[in-house]
Amino acid sequence: MRYSGFKVIKEALTGHKGWKPAWRDPEPQSHYDIIIIGGGGHGLATAYYLAKEFKQKRIAVLEKGWVGGGNVGRNTTIIRSNYLLDGNEPFYEFSLKLWEGLEQDFNYNAMVSQRGILNLIHSDAQRDAFTRRGNAMILNGADAEMLTTAQIKKRYPFLNTEDARFPIKGGLAQHRGGTVRHDAVAWGYARSADSRGVDIIQNCEVTGFRITNGKCLGVETSKGFIGATKVGCAVAGSSSRLMSKANMRLPMESHVLQAFVSEGLKPVLPGVVTFGAGHFYCSQSDKGGLVFGGDLDGYNSYAQRGNLPVVEDVCEGGMAIFPALGRARLLRMWGGIMDMSMDGSPIIDKTHIDGLYFNGGWCYGGFKATPASGFCFAHLLAKDAPHPFAAAYRFDRFEKGMMIDEKGMGNQPNLH
Ligand SMILES: Cc1cc2nc3c(=O)[nH]c(=O)nc-3n(C[C@H](O)[C@H](O)[C@H](O)COP(=O)(O)OP(=O)(O)OC[C@H]3O[C@@H](n4cnc5c(N)ncnc54)[C@H](O)[C@@H]3O)c2cc1C
Repeated sequence: MRYSGFKVIKEALTGHKGWKPAWRDPEPQSHYDIIIIGGGGHGLATAYYLAKEFKQKRIAVLEKGWVGGGNVGRNTTIIRSNYLLDGNEPFYEFSLKLWEGLEQDFNYNAMVSQRGILNLIHSDAQRDAFTRRGNAMILNGADAEMLTTAQIKKRYPFLNTEDARFPIKGGLAQHRGGTVRHDAVAWGYARSADSRGVDIIQNCEVTGFRITNGKCLGVETSKGFIGATKVGCAVAGSSSRLMSKANMRLPMESHVLQAFVSEGLKPVLPGVVTFGAGHFYCSQSDKGGLVFGGDLDGYNSYAQRGNLPVVEDVCEGGMAIFPALGRARLLRMWGGIMDMSMDGSPIIDKTHIDGLYFNGGWCYGGFKATPASGFCFAHLLAKDAPHPFAAAYRFDRFEKGMMIDEKGMGNQPNLH
């Protein structure tokens, strides 16, 4: 069924009797050509592009819970391509371009809103660094603009540009950045993958791999053994736990990241703003809530909830640039499990086990990567060769010392 304005009007006039479930609820078959583990944004996007772009057949996505219950439905919805390094910037710009056509492509309203993102500058050294980043973005075909304090004040009048502890000295803007309704991304990919014949099997946890003579023959699940010619793992925060079942120890740690939403307010924040002297970022949802977040909780965990010291830290960051935030009431907060890699960049690669492929290490920036990650992982699975935009995201970069350390933090997963 194709969604359209015409369809909405027709259904409104005929008692909404013609809507069908957005995807089927199939029982697993005994064997698939390709199994994707994880029904988050990356897993579902991979299945969608495998079927649509790479014409693969007999594909299943196995999800231990429900579609959209992981980080894809827990993040703060920001998309951007304001990266510095060569390994990253072309990939994230490819992703942003896919976001720009996504709703027409998969026929679903994901509320892609290119309202812009602004990284605030608080020191001269930071201005130098952001100018360099902006130039790298432009050289890679992305958009970037340095703004003065006066330009910022005009667009964001409530930011404290007068007597702040960390004065605002300008900002790096990417006008094509913005927000997307996160869970609609999971639903849109799920629906379109399903309509192309992909089996999306929820409540099906992968509990192990069947590996014989160095080849992966399928997966053990809570619904029994399911055979596969190829298996792709895309379980984000659960990556280390899942891959340990194939006796792999990943260069990765799992950490908690929290998100916060205030009560609904009238429009006050036209775009996404990030604080440059601490970790705080904020946007306003279409329902009016201020959506914000900051640092990781700072210790390894698989809990999808956080602790109060980080709440205080994030709110302090917000108050430093946006004092009016103190008058808003906090409505909701939650946590997600982040797959933090050693250099802060992801991995999309084959493993040493024949037929077993891996996608993960998205740290806290994987939502914006969803379309490109799905596309590049699908390319790898279908052609057994890395997509050019993801060619640097290999396991062996840690062995060879070819890190893609965007923040220059070294092997400190919690700092990336
Ligand atoms: C609070 C917060 C804010 C964030 N903000 C942003 C942001 O603004 N911008 C941005 O770009 N990124 C952001 N991120 C990061 C982003 O959400 C993640 O990097 C990205 O969603 C991870 O990919 P995914 O969608 O596939 O993960 P998930 O949705 O977590 O998908 C993984 C799925 O695998 C399933 N799974 C796990 N183990 C198994 C198993 N054994 N068998 C079967 N299924 C299994 C899980 O149930 C889950 O559904 C944020 C994350 C959080 C938590």
